[in-house]
Amino acid sequence: GGPRKGENVNHPLKVSLEDLYNGKTVKLAINRQVIVGEPTPCRTCDGQGVVVELRQIALGMVQQLQRRCHDCNGLGYRAKMKKERKVLEVHIDKGMRHNQRVTFRGMADEQPNMEAGDVNFIVQEKEHDVFKRKGADLLITKTLSLNEALCGFEWMLTHLDGRQIVIQSRPGEVIKPEGRTGGAGGGMPFVKIVSNEGMPSRGNPFVKGNLYVLFKVEFPEDGEMDEATVAALRKCLPGAPEMDLEYDEEEVEIAHLDHADVKNFGKGGVAASQDAYDSDDDDERGPKAVQCQQS
Ligand SMILES: [Zn+2]
Repeated sequence: GGPRKGENVNHPLKVSLEDLYNGKTVKLAINRQVIVGEPTPCRTCDGQGVVVELRQIALGMVQQLQRRCHDCNGLGYRAKMKKERKVLEVHIDKGMRHNQRVTFRGMADEQPNMEAGDVNFIVQEKEHDVFKRKGADLLITKTLSLNEALCGFEWMLTHLDGRQIVIQSRPGEVIKPEGRTGGAGGGMPFVKIVSNEGMPSRGNPFVKGNLYVLFKVEFPEDGEMDEATVAALRKCLPGAPEMDLEYDEEEVEIAHLDHADVKNFGKGGVAASQDAYDSDDDDERGPKAVQCQQS
């Protein structure tokens, strides 16, 4: 039922995360075909949109063929058309998401005897250097020194609306290099949240998601701390061994550690020299780092 409707027109619209956070109105011009005056019924097809052709296929036998009317493109009506430039105000609501659309009903090309289709602007969220978004939640990555991770930290974050937020540890709070272990797969990223500092929800912008902070902890390099520092740390850090290991140096072997890559695990022994030739193939097997940029 109802009148036929013309095709919708979709325009992708790139929108920054800032604009999706704060909301924005963008003025965009479109060109469309509009009808001038009143459409008149097509004389060729008598307003039917189709014409009937009779074809004799044998003596006394006539086939009736129906085909679309070429003069009115099957619309049944003809009209004078003109091109119109139209400026549309596209309202980007706070909290809109990737692929959501802003619709202007009936703003596509007009056609006689037909309802005009819609013009849709489809939000294409741009990548952000600092914030990653999933739903209403945001995520940033923060690298701390071991000192900050153990003894406390604060840093200034500029949010998507320009507010400056000082993110501050609580007394005694410890940031770890990785979260709880996830079975044989190894450690999970260590994340915490700043509650209600994610994206606003569309239609209810006061309800916000959370801001996730994915922490990385940078440990000192070999030899970076002098002996006095190490001695002082040994005294005050928890977990110091209560007594020295007892052994007879004549009977045990002392071993030291060399640098290693877990990708080479299993490649030791005689076969190692053969495997060295195709070691490039295994480059992608290693654990994948989460691709996030530090604020
Ligand atoms: Zn016609």
